[in-house]
Amino acid sequence: MGYLPTDPANFASEAIDGFAAAYPRHVRRIDGGVMRLAPIPTGQVGVVVGGGSGHYPAFAGLVGRGLAAGAVCGNIFASPSAGQVVRVGSAVERGAGLLLTFGNYAGDVLHFTLGAERLRRQGIDVRIVTVTDDIASAPIDQQELRRGIAGGLAVYKVAGAAAEAGLPLDEVERLARKANGRTRTLGVAFSGCTLPGADQPLFEVPSGRMAIGMGLHGEPGLSEGPLTEAGPLAALLVERLLAERPADVPEDEQRLVVLLNGLGCFKYEELFVLFGAVNRELQGRGVVMADCECGELVTSLDMAGVSLSFFWLDGELEGFWNAAADSAAYRRGQLAAESDGPQPRPTQRPEPELPSGLPSGPPTQPAPLTPVQQALLARFKAVEEELQERVEELGGLDAVAGDGDHGLGMLRGIRGARESAIGACGRGCGPGEVLMEAGEAWSDHGGGTSGALWGGALLAAGQSLAQATEIGPNDVAAAFGAALQAVIDLGQAAPGDKTMLDALQPFCLRLRADLEAGLDLAQALQNAANTSLAAATATADLLPQRGRARPHGQRSLGHPDPGAMSMAYCLLAASAGYVGLHGVADPAQAS
Ligand code: ADP
Ligand code: MG
Repeated sequence: MGYLPTDPANFASEAIDGFAAAYPRHVRRIDGGVMRLAPIPTGQVGVVVGGGSGHYPAFAGLVGRGLAAGAVCGNIFASPSAGQVVRVGSAVERGAGLLLTFGNYAGDVLHFTLGAERLRRQGIDVRIVTVTDDIASAPIDQQELRRGIAGGLAVYKVAGAAAEAGLPLDEVERLARKANGRTRTLGVAFSGCTLPGADQPLFEVPSGRMAIGMGLHGEPGLSEGPLTEAGPLAALLVERLLAERPADVPEDEQRLVVLLNGLGCFKYEELFVLFGAVNRELQGRGVVMADCECGELVTSLDMAGVSLSFFWLDGELEGFWNAAADSAAYRRGQLAAESDGPQPRPTQRPEPELPSGLPSGPPTQPAPLTPVQQALLARFKAVEEELQERVEELGGLDAVAGDGDHGLGMLRGIRGARESAIGACGRGCGPGEVLMEAGEAWSDHGGGTSGALWGGALLAAGQSLAQATEIGPNDVAAAFGAALQAVIDLGQAAPGDKTMLDALQPFCLRLRADLEAGLDLAQALQNAANTSLAAATATADLLPQRGRARPHGQRSLGHPDPGAMSMAYCLLAASAGYVGLHGVADPAQAS
């Protein structure tokens, strides 16, 4: 993607820095994303949008009066971390609570949910409304499984206007849900998109064909057809969307907001040609177009494609849709003067640097490391080296039915976790605390579904070791058991759903069995890791039931699950040459 050579690891944050510099009348850069230049008045609900980067004008472009109070900005195509959600949420909140609203993707849901819990612990009332407008991603009776795409604008606009009108959080939440329930989108792609720094597109659409139902993150389309002219394409989109008219809207009383969205590489003139065709289709069917937008609303890097959204209005929603707003990317009407007078500038905290190459030796002012700490840090190092080797392999596996970010996400996660573990060891923390801090860092830096799950798993393992002074084989098994339970609780996957669980659970079962059979810990860990790799490899035969890959089940047959493979690689690296967490040299090595 793009023309200027760029460092992919910094691309997203540099883009947000530059965006904030380009729109100084609208936004300011804060740790985790952007917020409105003038904070919302005291007592106003804060609407916070967010998601991965690569979708401009979503999400930072929608921050402004009458719209979002802040945006949490993740890495390219990766959900922001729970920590970012907390930092943006606390920066914008002004006493009336927060509505967090974002597209329904597993990683975003996990991180925003964890972030909301942390904000609630600070005494803030937080609600979540996920956007589920993409009709191609699940059938109507499973609407809660649908992804969120360009129709999100209807939800964000209504919620932002309701908050600006001074409505309480209950009402802002209700209206956002109502807007989401009456919005449907269908997209079509003519080409794939390429991640910054990559020399291959994430996927391709054969020339002369179009992929119908293409996801915003480059998830492959659900079906493919020959390219058509604007007329038949408009007819196809309009027909599919009208077939999903909300149950309480009579057929002859439909008033629609029509959003025609370009996905990144689709010329405006060509959009207008298609819009004309959509307009004729609607007129032919007697459907009233009450309002419309035609342009780039939510993009997918350099994907060529379009999506059409219908938002069915009623009297109440129409008022909020038409209300004035002023953000970098969306403006309408005339806003009243700010009521609250000049606002104090919130204190700016610098965005934490992405962890990169880490010192291989101990920290600069080291308390001498205990044998337990040394053993633990050696395992973090081994896992980081393993993941460094596997970035491309894991990214490739994730591109089969997902978004291709798994290798990079895992590497960012382990780097953050290891850096934080080194710091905690330097402060003299015990293994429980070290793992807990590493878990928070993993979820902050890793992003994505796997980042939240790995973060949660390490946190739980750390908690289970927090009380232990001596760590024996059973404590190690209990820590892995706690990690397993955290992955199940957070991700709600079952064995056989084709997730990382299918590698972690066999590991835990084998570890327990071998320990009970009297094997020493080092041998039991090694056996369990081998079992895990075999189980991960065997996920090739499974159909994914969870996460981003679920709608593309067939495509992933024959390929193992990326999260299961990375789990097995990490377990292998962590157990190979195991020297004993209890700090005693490995008996196998001694003999
Ligand atoms: P994202 O899907 O957000 O891009 P990653 O690509 O980093 O996240 O991770 C994808 C992996 O996460 C999948 O291969 C799968 O192993 C794992 N995963 C996804 N959803 C779940 C879930 N609900 N429970 C357990 N693991 C999951
Ligand atoms: Mg992924």
